[in-house]
Amino acid sequence: MVVTRFAPSPTGYLHIGGLRTALFSYLWARKNGGKFLLRIEDTDKARNSQEAAEAIVKAFHWLGLEHDGEIIYQSQRDDIYAIYIKQLLDEGKAYKCYMSKDELTELRETQMANKERTKYDGKYRDFTGTPPENAEYVIRIKAPLSGEILVRDGVKGDISFQAEDILDDFVIARGDGSPTYNFVVAIDDHLMGVTEVIRGDDHLSNTPKQIVVYEALGFEVPKFFHVPMIHNHEGKKLSKRDGATDVMAYKEMGYTPEALLNFLVRLGWSHGDQEIFSMDEMMEYFNPKNINRSASIYNTEKLDWLNSHYIKNTPNNKLAEMLEPYGLLLTSHDKKEILLDALKERAKTLKEMALLVNEIIIAPASYDEKAVEKSFKGDAVDVLNAFAAKVSTSSELHLPSDYHHLMQEVVDEMGIGFGKIGQPLRVALLGKMSGPGLDSVMAIIGKNETISRIKSAIKAHSQT
Ligand code: GLU
Repeated sequence: MVVTRFAPSPTGYLHIGGLRTALFSYLWARKNGGKFLLRIEDTDKARNSQEAAEAIVKAFHWLGLEHDGEIIYQSQRDDIYAIYIKQLLDEGKAYKCYMSKDELTELRETQMANKERTKYDGKYRDFTGTPPENAEYVIRIKAPLSGEILVRDGVKGDISFQAEDILDDFVIARGDGSPTYNFVVAIDDHLMGVTEVIRGDDHLSNTPKQIVVYEALGFEVPKFFHVPMIHNHEGKKLSKRDGATDVMAYKEMGYTPEALLNFLVRLGWSHGDQEIFSMDEMMEYFNPKNINRSASIYNTEKLDWLNSHYIKNTPNNKLAEMLEPYGLLLTSHDKKEILLDALKERAKTLKEMALLVNEIIIAPASYDEKAVEKSFKGDAVDVLNAFAAKVSTSSELHLPSDYHHLMQEVVDEMGIGFGKIGQPLRVALLGKMSGPGLDSVMAIIGKNETISRIKSAIKAHSQT
């Protein structure tokens, strides 16, 4: 069975790069009918792991990515790690190292002065004497000191590391007994039954060390897929400013889960030249073998394009629900269909859509001066009055086309161009020159509100 996992260090929120590897892991597990597990790497006890886990679960929930089973917290597993430390000590595969901090610093300084790689020199590797009195110790694993460590990576191919270039007997338990990162990752991945590790390639340098742990403990090494980073347009690692921020901030900005996941799946993975993927399609086509070998570029325009695609293609009932977190209660609005149809082509985000809706349903509090100056010229007030009179005497006004006919009548009767009514009417109804079709706007706000907005605009104009 395929078992994947997402193993965030709790930095308080789920960020976009983490979400991408989580998505890849999720898709691969689901595609294969396997399991997608969540492990919180909270060995840094100063941080609040519970809160971080909740933030991550909340983000997963918003995106519809559910993990299987209980969340594993590394901070709660010291007893388990202790068993393996003891095992390695008993088997002579790990040892106590009594080198003091000062001695270690001195060793490093000498190595640096000699332009050598800084590494532990193995002083206590085969130590059989009496340890220095009251000396604190750390526990080091006996790493291979020569030969190669082969990382069989599903993205990058086989990568051979020379043990003597990268390894030393690294610490697996600190002076206070707490286990170290690479040690616990290997143990947890094994105990959780993880078969495929899909993670950022910033972890590639950890992998040989983890392989040393797997081998010392006699565990089978999982398959690795190291995913290249996401870069910004300058080819640098994505920063917060570029969008490497809390996934929930994307929700606040008005992105839909579908668009965000679709955007992320294409960052570093492709299936022909297809751009739009439903969740089912992602699951059908995704294979970590096809993850690109080079870094991918974050592109906001693409995200916006996908988001507007999903907004446009969301049925109005669902869209009304999705707009609720943005302060819009439209689910039972009787003109919901007209309103959403008029705007769904225009908005890049749900937040923008909510603003556009409010611009229609809330009467303008003021009028754009330039727009008034431009449109209230000549007989604009007469045109508006004529139109308002027609609206007030018409009984069957429901659809945008009903209002359109009335505008047409005024245009015909007064022998004017459409702009002569359209421009002042737009300013009267919306306070500015831009916005969706006026016939839709009037059908949404209704007859009385249309008349009232025209009157208010005329009044405001007469007072200037
Ligand atoms: N905890 C690591 C991180 O958040 C991930 C470790 C892993 O996936 O092996 O970057």
